[in-house]
Amino acid sequence: MLHSKPKEDNYLHKGLRKQLVQTLKEKGIKDERVLAATEAIPRHFFLDQAFERRAYEDKAFPITAGQTISQPYTVAYQTQLLEVKKFDKILEIGTGSAYQACVLAELGATVYTIERQKALYDFVSQFFFIKNYSSIKRFYGDGYEGLPSFAPFDKVIVTAAAPFIPPKLIAQLKPGGIAVIPVGDDSGQKMLRITKDKDGSVHEEEMGDFIFVPMLSGKNPLAP
Ligand code: SAH
Repeated sequence: MLHSKPKEDNYLHKGLRKQLVQTLKEKGIKDERVLAATEAIPRHFFLDQAFERRAYEDKAFPITAGQTISQPYTVAYQTQLLEVKKFDKILEIGTGSAYQACVLAELGATVYTIERQKALYDFVSQFFFIKNYSSIKRFYGDGYEGLPSFAPFDKVIVTAAAPFIPPKLIAQLKPGGIAVIPVGDDSGQKMLRITKDKDGSVHEEEMGDFIFVPMLSGKNPLAP
């Protein structure tokens, strides 16, 4: 895998990205900044050579360690629900390929992102493109714990299927903050947008059906 070596981003890739943005608009993504970030980030950089030609299809693809890069629509939708503002401090659970983290960083956020698979964490450390984003802080750990020493966060995003709303993540959300978490089992999940009011009370809204890989507890130090 040539993940550590820069790849080219040519007019063909850029053209395919414009088409992808058009598809996302047709599927209901309205936030212009999210669309601009999708257009700016070369998704083919994040994929194995074998999938590179399909990088701008609106589909999830396998990455390393049996994990996936989320579908572009899902990334855009979760990002839109987060209402990202410049300088937001965001906690992400499930770094995966780091594509979602790059979208958030492109919007001007500082991203604290946790991955439980050591192999995947190390893989992203070698990724040439991640070095462009000093506002992405990566951690190898268990997302159920969040990052108490960096809390509180303006926003929390979980990119794996949580069996329940992880209480520590809500505790680490600022009053006035938003968390976006797919909750359910392997038959499917509801996207929940959870808002914490200024007085600390928490509200949930259901925002549609999705399928993610499971949010598992504990760290995994083993190679896949
Ligand atoms: N945001 C990613 C999507 C990755 S898929 C992207 O843009 O590519 C979900 C990821 O969540 C997987 O890499 C999986 O290993 C990770 N994950 C699952 N449970 C976790 C947990 N408890 N803590 C941290 N990461 C977790």
